[in-house]
Amino acid sequence: DEYLKIAYYGMRTKDKTGSPGEPNRFNCKLVADFDPTLERVDVVPQELGRVLLNLYNNAFYAVAQRAKAQSEGYQPTVRVSTRRLMSALEIRVLDNGTGIPESVKAKIFQPFFTTKPTGEGTGLGLSLSYDIVTKGHGGTLTVESTEGKGTEFRIVLPLTR
Ligand code: ADP
Ligand code: MG
Repeated sequence: DEYLKIAYYGMRTKDKTGSPGEPNRFNCKLVADFDPTLERVDVVPQELGRVLLNLYNNAFYAVAQRAKAQSEGYQPTVRVSTRRLMSALEIRVLDNGTGIPESVKAKIFQPFFTTKPTGEGTGLGLSLSYDIVTKGHGGTLTVESTEGKGTEFRIVLPLTR
């Protein structure tokens, strides 16, 4: 919840057309759908926080890009949800932004790979996130995306390790 707010506020303050605290120009809708019955998982909070922050920032960037190209009838939306799987916790970050072309998808987890202009992206977010989730927490980080429709990142963390 907290990281979602940080990312959202960060995006709003970067939006030069509005002053901080005002609704951003594309009015991103945020949906948080957390399973309240979930058991606690053993994670390093700062590390998982970085992963989520990066996923949210990427999601906001993608909806902002799409909003620039298509403003009519478009409701930018970022959704985060958690649920319990058999013996794992699933966290999904879903956006209806630009989506990722097939040719790009193969490279997004590589260090320094970015499609953003200089100064807007380092290309390190997803490679770092991948290492934190897999090596650091014994989980998986996967992506599903359709160009022009949106993207879903999925983190699965084992409940016991
Ligand atoms: P950066 O954000 O600095 O570019 P990342 O490692 O976080 O680096 O992401 C790498 C690339 O993956 C991005 O430049 C972008 O092309 C693509 N990407 C990541 N998340 C999304 C998303 N939610 N929607 C569309 N493209 C994305
Ligand atoms: Mg990023």
